[in-house]
Amino acid sequence: MNNIEEIKNRIDIVDLVSENVKLRRTGKNYTGFCPFHANTRTAAFVVWPETGTWRCFGECNEGGDIFRYIMKREGVDFKEALKILAERAGIELQPLTPQAAEQNERADLLRKILEETIVFYRHQLRTTDAGKKAQEYLRTKRGITAETEEVWGLGYAPDSWDALINHFKQKDYAVQDLIDSGMVTERDDGRVYDRFRHRIMIPIRDMYGKMTGFGGRVLNPDDVPKFMNSPQTILFDKSATLFGLDRARKAIRSANQAVIIEGYFDVIVPHQEGFENLVSPMGTALTETQMRQLKRFTRNFVLALDPDAAGQKATLRGLEVAREALDHEGEPVFNARGLIHHESRLKADLRVSTLPDDLDPDEIVLRDKEEWQQIVSNARPIIYHVLDSLMDGQDIDDPKAKSSIVAQILPLVNDIGSPVERDAYRQYIARALKIDESALAGTALSQPRSSRSPRRPRKDHISSAINQPVELTSEQEKLYRVEQEIIAHLCKTPENRFKINHFLEKHGLQHLSPTDFAHSENQEMLRIILESFTQGEMEQVKYIAERIDVAQLATEVNHSPLPEQEEKKEVPHLRHLEETVRLILTVRQINTKQALKELQFLQSDQAADKEEKLEKDSTMQTRQVELIRLRGLIDRALAQQIKFD
Ligand SMILES: [Zn+2]
Repeated sequence: MNNIEEIKNRIDIVDLVSENVKLRRTGKNYTGFCPFHANTRTAAFVVWPETGTWRCFGECNEGGDIFRYIMKREGVDFKEALKILAERAGIELQPLTPQAAEQNERADLLRKILEETIVFYRHQLRTTDAGKKAQEYLRTKRGITAETEEVWGLGYAPDSWDALINHFKQKDYAVQDLIDSGMVTERDDGRVYDRFRHRIMIPIRDMYGKMTGFGGRVLNPDDVPKFMNSPQTILFDKSATLFGLDRARKAIRSANQAVIIEGYFDVIVPHQEGFENLVSPMGTALTETQMRQLKRFTRNFVLALDPDAAGQKATLRGLEVAREALDHEGEPVFNARGLIHHESRLKADLRVSTLPDDLDPDEIVLRDKEEWQQIVSNARPIIYHVLDSLMDGQDIDDPKAKSSIVAQILPLVNDIGSPVERDAYRQYIARALKIDESALAGTALSQPRSSRSPRRPRKDHISSAINQPVELTSEQEKLYRVEQEIIAHLCKTPENRFKINHFLEKHGLQHLSPTDFAHSENQEMLRIILESFTQGEMEQVKYIAERIDVAQLATEVNHSPLPEQEEKKEVPHLRHLEETVRLILTVRQINTKQALKELQFLQSDQAADKEEKLEKDSTMQTRQVELIRLRGLIDRALAQQIKFD
């Protein structure tokens, strides 16, 4: 038994969920109000102890095992959920390999250096003459209180080439470790010196509050650059860091909104004044990794970046990334078990607010809290903002300019999920550009869509012709095996994914996605593999290997975790593909059946309560219709001979 199974065995899902949900026992199962969406009338949440799973049939329309539950409840990723639950279960997780263990140790050491550096810089800030001047600057010029200074661990790097080096040398640290921590720089001739000198120092932590690096702001206005970060280290990756997220995550979740601004003090000062849902990227356009982090807490983003021209461009770039991160994450916008008739549209609300000239968020907050609130709530839908930016300085009577603007803005409009909203935007754009709206509608739908029309599943096909590839004692075991096989197949022939998705699309089904799987560890594997296809950073094999560093995952998949560079033999290759498709359909069939079973249970439970029967939630009825139709589509796809050529 691997650790994940052991954890699942030791932790009772009913106990776990009961911590924050009042569950009602009905027969073997439990129902309650979903903790993840606001609801008071209909109990749309089921816990199924037999399979160790939960599911919400309400707004969330999703479910999973205990790992998925913790991921959602705590807003953490799989790895973190694994740690939380392992601890709860009293299981010690072992790192994957000796190398990984060594790397973990190394990271711990570097973090220790950074933590100790905070103490050193704090001491400098509070006790030295130069430091006190820096402190004075924080108090009077930035409006930062003593408490805020303490909470964020602000400090002062003395104006010296070796103060920090000497401090650590006294404590018997190796110079190489200081270099690796990013705090000390090595010149070509081998001489070393303190990286940060005569700067206000701001500790940077990851979303879990662990130290990763520092940001330093100049005190002498002639020094450049004005802001300097740690270099890339094994702990610090600026493109993956959002400053303040460790402190902002709770507020982001409860406000259901993340405000993205630019600058350390623009996060710290509003935080001090009670606006805690702010984060800042590290002086670059928002990256996909950063957006993914935020998306765990909310899908509502307000970008409040610099008002100058560069800022506007950065905002546009930021939006582009925002779109990509949410759009191509490999997860469908809607749960695979649920809806089949939706295109993969962006399900996020991205707004932009323009700051008044020459003022930073921290200055605005200190001047007038109301004003800040106003700015955030006045944020406009990105379409308006983008349109304004595109039109800025253009002669919109020029047909070429018009057409170029339309070409840039329409993809954004087409990403809006609501047809009503889409129409409203098209009208707005048409008016602004003085063109006929029908011209926009024509361009908008140029993408070919095959088999989108919902066909009614024929009764005689339901539950017929089930090509089950494996016979196992329980559905759950079987599911697990099948999920693993799909992963193995995909690793062997990654290029098949296009054909697989094409096949699914042709049958009115959604593309392969992690939500197809019922087990979180398999979901995580599939997520990483799918992500490896779309990332452009590095070789796919390396990408996967770097991310699958949890022993508990590897034990299950090490039989074939990486794509092989084999010669392609035509016939077996196709058979392989057919087999993969059949497995995917089988997984979906099992899951859909299970979801229907749960939904029926939920409904019959409610039917027992007369009042609730009258108030029967229409969402659940919709879900049922969707599930039945989905089941029909899957059965039909399975019933026919799956063949590729
Ligand atoms: Zn829910």
